[in-house]
Amino acid sequence: MASNEDLFKKIISHAKEYGFVFPSSEIYDGLSAVYDYGPFGVELKNNIREYWWRTMTQYHENIVGLDASIFMHPAVWKASGHVDAFSDPMIDNKDSKKRYRADVLIEDHIQKIEDKIIKEVEKARTRFGGSFDEKMYRETNPRVKEHQEKIDAIKHRFYPALERNDLEDVRNLIGELGIVCPVSGTKNWTEVRQFNLMFSTQMGSVNEDASSIYLRPETAQGIFVNFLNVQKSARMKIPFGIAQTGKAFRNEIVARQFLFRMREFEQMEMQYFVKPGEELKWYEFWKTERMKWHLSLGIPASKYRFHDHDKLAHYANAAADIEFEFPIGFKELEGIHSRTDFDLSAHQAHSGRKLQYFDTETSESYVPYVVETSIGLDRTFLAVLSHAYREEKLQDGSERIVLGIPAKLAPIKLAVLPLVKKDGLPEKAREIMDVVKYGFRCFYEEKDTIGRRYRRMDAIGTPYCITIDHQTLQDNTVTIRDRDTMLQDRISIPEIPSLVREKIG
Ligand code: ATP
Repeated sequence: MASNEDLFKKIISHAKEYGFVFPSSEIYDGLSAVYDYGPFGVELKNNIREYWWRTMTQYHENIVGLDASIFMHPAVWKASGHVDAFSDPMIDNKDSKKRYRADVLIEDHIQKIEDKIIKEVEKARTRFGGSFDEKMYRETNPRVKEHQEKIDAIKHRFYPALERNDLEDVRNLIGELGIVCPVSGTKNWTEVRQFNLMFSTQMGSVNEDASSIYLRPETAQGIFVNFLNVQKSARMKIPFGIAQTGKAFRNEIVARQFLFRMREFEQMEMQYFVKPGEELKWYEFWKTERMKWHLSLGIPASKYRFHDHDKLAHYANAAADIEFEFPIGFKELEGIHSRTDFDLSAHQAHSGRKLQYFDTETSESYVPYVVETSIGLDRTFLAVLSHAYREEKLQDGSERIVLGIPAKLAPIKLAVLPLVKKDGLPEKAREIMDVVKYGFRCFYEEKDTIGRRYRRMDAIGTPYCITIDHQTLQDNTVTIRDRDTMLQDRISIPEIPSLVREKIG
């Protein structure tokens, strides 16, 4: 655990030192859970967003885009249930003065018991080898059964208590389970209270005229209220999807996990409108499709897992998360939800406007069902960054930090480096730069030894560096160095663009 925390700290400080992520308003000591993306961070973030956009819209002919406003009519959030129910139960420890989500404390406690079961199962698997029957073992081993019964008992009490909004019982459960504050180590807890996560502000010039509006806590509602505008103007036929990326704001209770939990963040969402009754088929389709998308980033499958929800949100009839193994453990990266017709029906009822689809084949009108895929851009950034970060010991005894970012997402694709700052090499390098920079993001640098410049490019994840040396002036060739293998090759200048493009394609 300690080493993972160390790793997380190293990644955060690397992100700052190399221009990926800065704390917001740092000269004023920062603003909690708000971050700014630096020169290389913004490139990586744009590349992830662009990759998502292209794969979701361009590659799926029946998905179109939308860019709705952050501000929306306040009635939207009443209809969607956010005004009444978008809250988390919070609890404070009186000794450490730290605030926690009460549900997360209990879920972490359940996870600890689950970890014990996994340990037992893995031990048995090693002991029994090929003949091991995990299902039978889980059903018959007394220790595992005992752990499982504990988990079931907690869930049996916890989920209905949340459902009833019985915060006193949630508080009692925390006490009975003996959950302690990770900071103070004590059980000196306050009561549990609900805390609405939406930020509100005033719209209008004078106080009396001003009305309270919210900063959107999710991008999805912009899609729902525009459902008919999009369907009619783009002449879409069900099933079809609407994709959108954009900022969302949540006044998170616990916000101390870098980009994982921010108060201002960006979502990439797609709402897929389907015929009622077909939603579970599409839900399965999108679970598979989205997992494929993650794997297409080149991160190994072992870093991902599905987590099917036991407790469904009020609007869903099936839901799963794709979890990623961050340095802080396996946590939600993307949610896939079958949202039924909850949102469209609610907006129909609140606005008094019909939000129905007319099926020309059957001549019926109906409110479509929705399957949503909702992924955090910042969390994806953190997943890519934390997986990419490597400290390597080299054969000559030196060390390097390298970001093995997939080439297609790398902030800079190619560095153009004259070996020395004289003998006409910078001029030749500039000549090359002026051609390649129109094809992909390049970086020119002539200061420092070539070794130092290579290291800096490794540290920001640049897949290729080319070096212009004295031989270049004679035969129009350069050396090209691969970030991961550090091997160098000599190629002719006209070959550069296609070689880089092949790598990033
Ligand atoms: P969590 O349980 O972690 O609070 P959630 O279930 O509330 O997340 P959703 O409402 O399903 O999250 O939002 C969809 C996606 O938006 C999440 O999978 C996550 O990637 C991203 N996201 C949500 N809240 C935050 C946040 N505070 N900071 C960064 N990303 C977030």
